[in-house]
Amino acid sequence: MTLNIAAAAESSSAAPVNAEELAAKVLEGHKLTEAEALGILATPDYATLPLVGAAGTLRRKYFGNSVKVNYLVNLKSGLCPEDCTYCSQRLGSTAEILKYTWLKADEAVAQAGYGIAGGASRVCMVASGKGPTDRDVDRVATMVEQLKEEHPQVEVCACLGILKDGQAARLKDAGADAYNHNLNTSESLYPEICTSHSYQDRVNTVQQAQAAGLSSCSGLIVGLGETPEQLVEAVFALRELGSESIPVNFLMPFDGTPMEGTWLLTPLACLRILALVRMACPDKELRIAGGREMHLRSLQSTALEVANSIFLGDYLTSEGQGAKKDLEMIADAGFVVLGQEASSPAEVARRLQEAAHAAGHQEAAPDAAGGGCGTGCSTGCGSGAQREPVLRRRGAGTKEDPNA
Ligand code: SF4
Repeated sequence: MTLNIAAAAESSSAAPVNAEELAAKVLEGHKLTEAEALGILATPDYATLPLVGAAGTLRRKYFGNSVKVNYLVNLKSGLCPEDCTYCSQRLGSTAEILKYTWLKADEAVAQAGYGIAGGASRVCMVASGKGPTDRDVDRVATMVEQLKEEHPQVEVCACLGILKDGQAARLKDAGADAYNHNLNTSESLYPEICTSHSYQDRVNTVQQAQAAGLSSCSGLIVGLGETPEQLVEAVFALRELGSESIPVNFLMPFDGTPMEGTWLLTPLACLRILALVRMACPDKELRIAGGREMHLRSLQSTALEVANSIFLGDYLTSEGQGAKKDLEMIADAGFVVLGQEASSPAEVARRLQEAAHAAGHQEAAPDAAGGGCGTGCSTGCGSGAQREPVLRRRGAGTKEDPNA
């Protein structure tokens, strides 16, 4: 079952909202209703930029003009026994991704250092798999301790799958600040995207992390075939769960997975989805996550008017646009990198280049596909062409310089 959420919104019977009035109500403490949420998704294309402007008033109230930069380190890649349909690391995936077992602590910390040099104030340490063993948690705890020792100002978020009793507390004791586990989609759609674990398993893990005092990071993958109602269901579930940080991933349909060839989003539909999350959860960190380059395309910086957080550089198994371009994009749109307010993002980008040259790297942030937007597009950004995920071939697990 696939549903084009952009087309579904167009044919929706939901009444479009007066975005400015709605944002003003939310600013005064109004809790977004389901009808209003569906109305946001039903906003016509021509009214979507004004919707972004309205949602932007909430973003600016809580986050000013700062953009939080996060950096992913893939500690263990591929070979997962789970069957999440959207994932290139799933059981049976024939996507030719990098596959490797645990990085050593030194390697993980060194990889994180590149992102930190690029202005990242949070490092996300991620491992494939259903969930960690206690030994795995000890291994990651050592990495967290080492990273915190070298970079005490940087937040560390672990993302290791479904947790067992005591594991969240172990990570917290080691110095981890946050735990990521995405709900991904609505409870009603969940059985269609994964059969090897349940939606409730995911909720339980988020709650375990919260109970241990870790900040919860839980978000979405959109473009899976969800209806507008299911998308609203998922966003409201995150609101009820109290997720502090909400990453929104736009499906990257890897060849070799069941979602291969699934393209259900448009750049304006992506903006409406981000606006929905902002209106529902006005004071939460909203992160534009995987797939932004290929789905938002030329509207990436426009999306920063709604979202206040991005990943720098590459994703777990695919390459993003060059980290230097990310920083330039932030600067060009008049934003500043959180924690680097004294420097413009362009200066951060320059420092990143200098650090890379000092380390003997040729170029800190080469784009994938040789100078395009890093998503395999050969026709230039904003052309409207669909762009396939470009498999990651640099950074963690390789001998190549990372994209940071
Ligand atoms: S999302 Fe996580 S649990 Fe699911 S297949 Fe991918 S790595 Fe495994």
